[in-house]
Amino acid sequence: MTLFEKIIAREIPAQIIYEDEWACAFHDISPQAPIHVLIVPKKAIPRVGEAVAEDQSQLGALLLTAGKVASQLGVNERSTGFRLVINNGVNAGETVPHLHVHLLAGRSLDWPPG
Ligand code: 5GP
Repeated sequence: MTLFEKIIAREIPAQIIYEDEWACAFHDISPQAPIHVLIVPKKAIPRVGEAVAEDQSQLGALLLTAGKVASQLGVNERSTGFRLVINNGVNAGETVPHLHVHLLAGRSLDWPPG
């Protein structure tokens, strides 16, 4: 099982704030912004570059979940906003090989990212 599968199975504790049949969202253990939530598919796709055609619904569900979670956290407005990040592979800084979307919010975020 991946680390995130263990969190979804409640084998490892996490602050879970949303869950449905497709995805689970919980606060990152090492937040990089006042709000830093990970949105994780229930299917353990290693990374977005390894997703296949049959994952289309799962991938769509991830973005829909991101919007729902942003609303739940009160940042789904143009005047506030949020950033979604997917790290794919070593150069991008991926550390957990289970696809996840970072939702960052609560402060002004630099662009371009480092
Ligand atoms: P990546 O670097 O793969 O894009 O993101 C992995 C994220 O998982 C990191 O932001 C890291 O802080 C977070 N993380 C690693 N271990 C744990 C954990 O045990 N619990 C939680 N909630 N987040 C974790």
